[in-house]
Amino acid sequence: MPLDLVLRQARIIGTGGPIDIGIADGRIVEIAPHIATDAHELPLDNRLAFPGFVDSHVHLDKSCISDRCHCERGTLQEAIAAVAAAKAAFTEDDIYSRARRSLERAIVQGTTHMRTHVEIDPRIGLRGFDAIRKLKADYAWAIDLEICAFPQEGLTNDPGTEDLLLAACAAGADLIGGCPYTDTDPDGHVARIFALAERFDIDIDFHLDFDIDPTWMHLDEVCRLTDTFRRGGRVAIGHVTKLSALAPDAFHAVARRLADAGVAVTVLPATDLFLMGRGHSHNIPRGVAPAHRLADLGVTCSLATNNVLNPFTPFGDCSLIRMANLYANTAHAGTARELAACFDLVTGSPARLMNLGAYGIAVGNPADVVVLDCADPTAAVAELAQPLLGLKRGRQTFTRPLPVLHRP
Ligand SMILES: [Zn+2]
Repeated sequence: MPLDLVLRQARIIGTGGPIDIGIADGRIVEIAPHIATDAHELPLDNRLAFPGFVDSHVHLDKSCISDRCHCERGTLQEAIAAVAAAKAAFTEDDIYSRARRSLERAIVQGTTHMRTHVEIDPRIGLRGFDAIRKLKADYAWAIDLEICAFPQEGLTNDPGTEDLLLAACAAGADLIGGCPYTDTDPDGHVARIFALAERFDIDIDFHLDFDIDPTWMHLDEVCRLTDTFRRGGRVAIGHVTKLSALAPDAFHAVARRLADAGVAVTVLPATDLFLMGRGHSHNIPRGVAPAHRLADLGVTCSLATNNVLNPFTPFGDCSLIRMANLYANTAHAGTARELAACFDLVTGSPARLMNLGAYGIAVGNPADVVVLDCADPTAAVAELAQPLLGLKRGRQTFTRPLPVLHRP
């Protein structure tokens, strides 16, 4: 089969020396130490080629609104109230243009797959959902965007929300989310989301246990219903900051429960660090669940961006290598093995969490390839290696030139 493109001298995870990657018709068709071909070639000079970052939890619809919200306390309650107020003025065009800004940043940071949570309630209606659906279609050339419809401000306490969620699911939402901590009936909220997921046969991704009081958890109810509905492998929970406050025995018991139920965990370091521990004046708790230790105990985990430039997280460049580095630094993950595990938490592991079928540098898979300026995953996380170029289904989607030193 004639090749369209060959990547020369790539490093890929799990092989020894440099290797060539042959691409034809949008797929990887050959991986070998040297591929003889006249096809166009890109020299990678021993740099790491991987299938791109997988961001399993991002709020594109409320990104880039820091300049409209004037928060001072930095608490979760203040962030929810500030965004709820700002949301009243969101139009479909406004949501689209802000979301596009964040999505384009993610693409040039090397993200090839993303799950975005979209708020659905009677105030915003389906404006956010419609804007993000259009964005998904417009940027399909660069990124696979999965839409999770969810009720940020509650469900059982917010009449009209369930009908709108139904409408979003019927219109093609890829999965459904929940946010029981904002509901007056958290268990009822969780039960309604499981019922909607059953009805549409879609996966679930909750915002869950977003505080650092370990004396109670909604996690138990989610695991129980995951067992009841036989949904292991199709349920994820985000934040779960309570897990950062557990003593070792309790932590191991919860990890075993999650692994047995097949409930995955997404940790959101930037938001969790910013919003947790606000009641403390000193010795401030970090509030970041130890994802790499959960992964060691058999739980499917990911690190993700969550919020960008809004009251939940007034920072952000949509870089998952920065998020992995931030997490590693916060979580005392510094050995070569731990740093490589942090790389997996923004690549292979979220791909498993999102049940992505053909993710990986392997013959037969779509030619989704991102090149980092480093030779291996450990260096990538330790040195915040920058992405230099990306391909989506064999077509180049971005280039980032290396810095140039101008010697005297
Ligand atoms: Zn979130």
